[in-house]
Amino acid sequence: MATFRFKALEALLERKPVCVPREANLTSDYYGKLVFDREKMKKYLSKEGYKAVTDAIDKGTTIDRKSADLVAVGMKAWALENGATHYTHWFHPLTDGTAEKHDAFIEYSELGGVVENFSGKLLAQQEPDASSFPSGGLRNTFEARGYTAWDVSSPAFIVGTTLCVPTVFISYTGEALDYKAPLLKAINAVDKAAVAVCQYYDKNVSKVTANLGWEQEYFLIDEALFNARPDLILTGRTLMGHSSSKDQQLDDHYFGSIPERVSYFMRDLENEAYKLGIPVKTRHNEVAPNQFEIAPIFEEVNLANDHNQLIMDTMTRIARHHGFRVLLHEKPFAGINGSGKHNNWSLSTDTGVNLYSPGKNPKANMQFLTFVVNTLKTLHDNQDLLRASILTAGNAHRLGANEAPPAIISAFLGAEVNKMLDYLEEAVVDRKMTPDEKTALKLDIGRIPEILLDNTDRNRTSPFAFTGNRFEFRAVGSSANCASAMIALNTALAKQLTVFKKDVDVIIESGVKKDEAIFQVLKKYIVECKDIRFDGNGYSEEWVEEAARRGLTNVRNVPEALDAYMTDKVINLFGEMGIYTPKELEGRTEVEFEKFTKKIQIEARVLGDLAINHIVPTAIRYQTNLIENVQGLKNLFPESEFEKLAGARLDMIRTISGHVSNIKAKVAEMIETRKVANAIENEREKAYAYDKTVRPFLEDIRYHIDKLELIVDDELWPLPKYRELLFAR
Ligand code: ADP
Ligand code: MG
Repeated sequence: MATFRFKALEALLERKPVCVPREANLTSDYYGKLVFDREKMKKYLSKEGYKAVTDAIDKGTTIDRKSADLVAVGMKAWALENGATHYTHWFHPLTDGTAEKHDAFIEYSELGGVVENFSGKLLAQQEPDASSFPSGGLRNTFEARGYTAWDVSSPAFIVGTTLCVPTVFISYTGEALDYKAPLLKAINAVDKAAVAVCQYYDKNVSKVTANLGWEQEYFLIDEALFNARPDLILTGRTLMGHSSSKDQQLDDHYFGSIPERVSYFMRDLENEAYKLGIPVKTRHNEVAPNQFEIAPIFEEVNLANDHNQLIMDTMTRIARHHGFRVLLHEKPFAGINGSGKHNNWSLSTDTGVNLYSPGKNPKANMQFLTFVVNTLKTLHDNQDLLRASILTAGNAHRLGANEAPPAIISAFLGAEVNKMLDYLEEAVVDRKMTPDEKTALKLDIGRIPEILLDNTDRNRTSPFAFTGNRFEFRAVGSSANCASAMIALNTALAKQLTVFKKDVDVIIESGVKKDEAIFQVLKKYIVECKDIRFDGNGYSEEWVEEAARRGLTNVRNVPEALDAYMTDKVINLFGEMGIYTPKELEGRTEVEFEKFTKKIQIEARVLGDLAINHIVPTAIRYQTNLIENVQGLKNLFPESEFEKLAGARLDMIRTISGHVSNIKAKVAEMIETRKVANAIENEREKAYAYDKTVRPFLEDIRYHIDKLELIVDDELWPLPKYRELLFAR
C-alpha cells in the first residue's frame, strides 16, 4: 500500500480548525502597530530627526549621517520596546522572494558585557555578501560586491523579533541588483513626465504618484497531502495527476462560503497584515477548488509592492500554523484555473485628482483623455516589453490558456470611453478648428459620465482593462514581484508622456492654441494605436486571428518573449529614462533566461525521479498482480473459457507495459537532451534549448503517468490525487 499517501489522508481526518478569535479591539486600534510610521516617528524622534525623514520622504532630500544617527536612535528605542532583538536590511533580489540577514542589536559595552546599539551607519547602509544572488552578466563585470541602502519612502516594520528596514540592493559600481532600485527610478520618471503634462491643465500640480492595488490569488493545500507530493514541494506545481472527475465545472467554489479552516487562516493572516500596516480589504474563494484571493486597498506603487512581497511571505508562514501550505505558483494544477495577480494601477496628483477618473468639466475630461490615450499608445508601442515583464516559466502556463489573459497584449476600454475616442477621431479636423467647432468639442467631452465605474462592463478576458478609474494589468503572475511589470509600464509611459509633451509644444510653437494642439496630438495617437483596443472575448480563437491581422504580436514562449528586453528600442527606452544602463539590462535579462532554464531543469529532474522511482515500480507491482491473477485463471479454467475470462486483463497488462516502456524511454531521452542543453554556455541559447527540447518531455511523460493513474489500483498509487488535493478542507 502507498503508505505515505494514506497516512496523509488519515491525518486529514484528524484535522481540526485552528480557532483564531477575533481581536478584542477594533482593527483601527492595532493597525500599523508594528510599523515605524509617521505617528511613531513623531513620538520617538527628535524634531530634527523627524524633519530629516519626512523631508526625505516628501521632497526626496538626502539624509546626512548625523540625522541618520538621530533616526536610528529613535527607531531602536521603538523596536526594543516592541520586542525586537535583531535588525535586518530587507530587500528584493532578482529571485522570487525577499532577502534578509539578521544582526543582533548587541555590541560590547565599555564596562564589559553588551549593550543594544543601532547607528545611522547601520541603518543607512549594509554590505551583504552579494555573491550568491543572481546578477547576470553583472557578476563577471563588476564583481559580486554590493550593498543595501535604506529606502526612506517605505517605513521599517517588525516581524517576529526582527526590525526590518526596506532597502535597495546595488553593486559597488552602482548597478541595481534588485527590483526596488529600478522601481523607484521608474516611479520618479513617470512622476516628472506626468507633472509636465498636468501643467497644461493645472499649474498647481507638483507631484504625480503611481498607485497599485494588487489582487493576490493563491491555493491552500493541506500540509499532509502537500508533503506526500515531492513535485509540489520542489517545484510548486504538480507535474503529474489525472484531473478530478469534478473540479471547477459547476462554478460552485467562486465566491462560495469560505471553509472554516481557511477562514481562520485568513483571519490570522489579516490580523498580522493589519499590524504590519497592510490595508487588506477583500477575501474570497476563487474559481478553482481550494483557490482563494486576498486584496488590499491600493497604495503608492513602491509601498504596495513591499506589502505584496510581505504578504506572500506572511501567508506562507501563517498557513503552517493552520496545517496548510500556500501555493503561489501560477499553475499548480493542470486543467483548472491558475493564479494571477491583477495589478490595478493609476496615477494621481498632489492636488487630489485621479488622472484616470473622468472629471466634472471639459478641462478635467481632456486631462483624463490625455492620460488614457497616452496609456493606450504606450501599450501599443511597448507590447513586447510588457509581455517580457510578466512572462516566466510559471506564468507561461496561464497565458493563452482559456482562463487567463492571452499572450496578446490589448486594452479593454468599455463602450463609453471607446465612443469618446471614436468621437475625438472624427471631430478633430486636420485644418485649424473654428471657434464653434472648438466649443462643441469641449462641450461633448464634458459629457463623459463622471462615474464610469458602474458603467464599465467587466470583461475578464482582457490583459489590460480600463475599470472606471484605473487600468488593471491582469497578465501578471501570482508569484511575481509586481515591480517587474510596474517598472516596464511606468517607464514606458514616462517616455510616452515626454514625447506627447514635445509633440504638443511643437504645434503650440507653430502658433496653434494649447487646447487645439492637444486635440491634434491626441487624435494622431488615437489613430496610430487603434489596433490595441479590443473589447471582445480575448479567449476566443477569432481574437488570435484578428490580432494577427492587426499586426499585434503573440508570443507564448518565455525565451522569445525575453528577447524583447534586448532590442534597441527597449535598451534606448530604459537608457533614456535613466532606469537601466545597457549593461544592467543585459545582466537582468540574463538572470531571467537563467531562472527560466533552472525552473525547467528542476521540473525535468523531479519528474524523471518520480516517474522512475514512484510511478514505474507501482505500475509494475500492479501489473505483477494482474499477471499472477491471469496465471491462476489459466490453471483453473480450460483454454476456451480462459480466453474469455482473462482477455480484458491481458489488455491491461499490455497497456501498462506500453506506458511503462514509454516512460522509461522518454525519461532516458530527456536526460540526454538535458545534457546537450547543459553544455551550452550562453544563457539565452540555453534557455531556448530548454524550451524547445527539454520542456516538451514534461507533457509527454506526464501523459503516460496520468494514464497509468487511471488504471492502477488506487490502494497502490503513491501520490495524493487531484481530487484529494483539491477537495480536502
Ligand atoms: P475586482 O476583483 O472587482 O477587480 P477588487 O476589489 O478585488 O476588485 O480589487 C480591486 C483593487 O483595485 C483593490 O486593490 C483596489 O484598492 C484597487 N483600486 C481601486 N481604485 C484604484 C485606483 N484608482 N488605482 C489603483 N488601484 C485601485
Ligand atoms: Mg480586479
